[in-house]
Amino acid sequence: MNYDELEGWSAKVAAWGSEYLQGLRHQPIRPQVAPGAVAAQVPPSPPEHAENMEVIFADFQRLIPSAMTHWQHPRFFAYFPSNAAPASIMAEQVANYMSAQCMLWQTSPAATELETVMIDWLRQALGLPDGWRGVLQDTATSATLSAVLTMREKALAWRGLREGLSGMPRMRIYASAQTHSSIDKAVRLAGIGQDNLVKVPTDANYAMRADALQRAIDEDRAAGFLPVGVIGCIGGTSIGASDRLDGILAIAQQESLYSHVDAAWAGSAMICPEFREIWCGIERADSVVFNPHKWLGANFDCSVQFLKQPADQVRTLAIRPQYLETLETDQITNYSEWTIPLGRRFRALKLWFLLRAYGLEGLRTRIRNHVAWTNEAAQAIAKAVPLEIVTAPRLGLFTFRYAPAGADPDLATRALLEAINSDGRTYLTQTTHEGRFVIRMSVGHFETTRADVLDAVAIICELADKLRLD
Ligand SMILES: *Cc1c(COP(=O)(O)O)cnc(C)c1O
Repeated sequence: MNYDELEGWSAKVAAWGSEYLQGLRHQPIRPQVAPGAVAAQVPPSPPEHAENMEVIFADFQRLIPSAMTHWQHPRFFAYFPSNAAPASIMAEQVANYMSAQCMLWQTSPAATELETVMIDWLRQALGLPDGWRGVLQDTATSATLSAVLTMREKALAWRGLREGLSGMPRMRIYASAQTHSSIDKAVRLAGIGQDNLVKVPTDANYAMRADALQRAIDEDRAAGFLPVGVIGCIGGTSIGASDRLDGILAIAQQESLYSHVDAAWAGSAMICPEFREIWCGIERADSVVFNPHKWLGANFDCSVQFLKQPADQVRTLAIRPQYLETLETDQITNYSEWTIPLGRRFRALKLWFLLRAYGLEGLRTRIRNHVAWTNEAAQAIAKAVPLEIVTAPRLGLFTFRYAPAGADPDLATRALLEAINSDGRTYLTQTTHEGRFVIRMSVGHFETTRADVLDAVAIICELADKLRLD
């Protein structure tokens, strides 16, 4: 295939893509596919000779879409949404044609400068303080690892980078048990060790208790540990729990601990001023991550890390070999010095297209609708005996279980979840909450409608009734 065929094929692919997306509502969300079935249909060795794009694309159409889980399905209520608004898909396509490496200003002036402006647009959109800066990362996992490395190095006066960690004091990081596993992973990979991630007890609302945080820090200091940072949780993955940031970040500041807030999912909702109460105190944080690639509509991958003082993270992550030296370093930003990978995609373009094509009002309306429909869905489920709400809606997420009289509710709920997911009209996933198996319903697909949400509730009730009769 050559450049001269690109135009024709791009048009064919666009036609396929638009038909695919518009037809999804009537398709099952998850494929009926046995493990290994797809691999068995792909030749085990690569071709020696060029194949025709006609044949390649026909194989794609035959083998792949029917064996995918359709994340852009409007009745996808599993995990968290991973939206791809049409304008964002287009921007990604444009970036794809240019395929630039956006590591330095010099390698991508427009991408670098657009990134700076988009970070500032989002800073304003979320109501974060003037003067904060930030960087686009691939995922929240990378942003959190960057923040944990920065906590570590700041506390060691940047000696760990040169000397390694052996002989250094045993470090401690504090977070609640509601935080995402990416925090555990970051603490492991940063050489701090899982055992030094202190899971601070939570209150009745699953927020970290400030008094317990203070006590843990005091006890650790007395025992000779080196506290290095606090990680706040806003919209945890399990049930959407949030810490009370004002209290715990005030302690972090008094104790001179670096702080990072994981708002990967819930951060998008902060474009609506009425929801910002959940992260009251955010201005005390040193680092905040949120994923426009979840709820906002930028397609994966697009994670924003805001930084109060980027210098600490840059000092931790920047490395400047001769072959990356550039001139005029004072007037420019080389974003690869802010992140772990050197190579970087042109991600700012999809934010630019997204924010302009829908406007903040258009994006707010979607999020407000999702939150309102989540409340409606939870009310309907609460009325449908023997379904029970386990955790009330937090933004677009609630959990419930199925507890028919005389049955083990964990087993019954598991059976209901299996029935829902093999039915295929909607898709939900589970979590464990206080030792109980519960089903999560997470509303936030860009194209979902009130009818989709209520249809999903009707399907859940129908399948629960059917299980009861069987
Ligand atoms: C999804 C999620 C993550 C992980 O996000 P990635 O971008 O996939 O690394 C981390 N924290 C929370 C709260 C999340 O919802």
